[in-house]
Amino acid sequence: MRRILPPLLAVLLASALAGCGGGEEPTQAQTDTAASVTTPGAPAGPQRLILLDPGHNGANAQHTKEINKKVPDGRGTTKPCNTVGTSTNPGQDMITEHEFNFYVAQGVKTILEQNGVKVVMTRDNDTGWGPCVDVRGKQAGAIHADAEISIHADGAPAAAHGFHVIYPKPALNSAQGAPSMSLATYLRDGLSDQMLPTSTYIGKKGLIGRSDLAGLNWSTRPTAMIECGNMKNTQDATNMISDAGEARYSNGIATAILRWLRDNPPAALAAATSSSSRTKIHSTETAKPDTDSDSSSRSGSSSRSSSSGSSTGTTTRKHSSTTSSSTKPSTTKSTTKSTTSTPE
Ligand code: ZN
Repeated sequence: MRRILPPLLAVLLASALAGCGGGEEPTQAQTDTAASVTTPGAPAGPQRLILLDPGHNGANAQHTKEINKKVPDGRGTTKPCNTVGTSTNPGQDMITEHEFNFYVAQGVKTILEQNGVKVVMTRDNDTGWGPCVDVRGKQAGAIHADAEISIHADGAPAAAHGFHVIYPKPALNSAQGAPSMSLATYLRDGLSDQMLPTSTYIGKKGLIGRSDLAGLNWSTRPTAMIECGNMKNTQDATNMISDAGEARYSNGIATAILRWLRDNPPAALAAATSSSSRTKIHSTETAKPDTDSDSSSRSGSSSRSSSSGSSTGTTTRKHSSTTSSSTKPSTTKSTTKSTTSTPE
């Protein structure tokens, strides 16, 4: 049965875990989470605005003609409007990526709003299709958001695990330069604080620059895309299929955004992004991602592994069979490469 109150539940769980005040012996996962929750609180000054972009959409699989339509990628070529996304492996608790992305985004939205930050979503439900990736990317500039954060999960070979955060590279405007790298770094640190391991299979210390993601390319505001983990990996999937696990992602992302807003007040951000008009696209720009890899960067992963597979004792929700069966995860990722497997 589909959950109906994921953000509230996520926040309640976060409070419960952070407080650690129950009479029961905390599990390892609870201990890990309790040590890491430090929310900076509401940003000072004028109200801030964040655009959250949960990747994909619930009915994309039923709108293949629409989502396969080519759209400008922001660097002179085209790519599909949108894709179906991936999923955890089939089973009782299988969760699709679009569903996971949406739940995590809703949890982030709830926490940000509780701290006085206005939030706009690129999609307000998980039952439609699209919007196209170029539309998502342009929206941050259109609404003058302080930043846009895209939330995804990856579908890599099963042995690979961990999260990574992607920033646009090379930058096409000033907002995509230092401000976006800063945002990506804050997001990486926020997730690391939740004892979530950085990627073993892509990027360097949980970060990577890429030029092939239209949502990032089209943004004229600071932007980053999070791949929360590998849905095909048992350890990552364990986090993704539980409410407590999803709360760790939501808390880590929301805390990172609040810290970033605090450290980038409006005047400073305006100065850093003042020349945010799109720059000339150079023919030397490559469509290939930065493929730096650093397996030694996974600080924190060893402690996390001890809690792998352990339930936090909370109710693991069952996903709608109709939603799960509407997508065919075994085929949706078949054409992607393992190290560049981030479809938009
Ligand atoms: Zn995705």
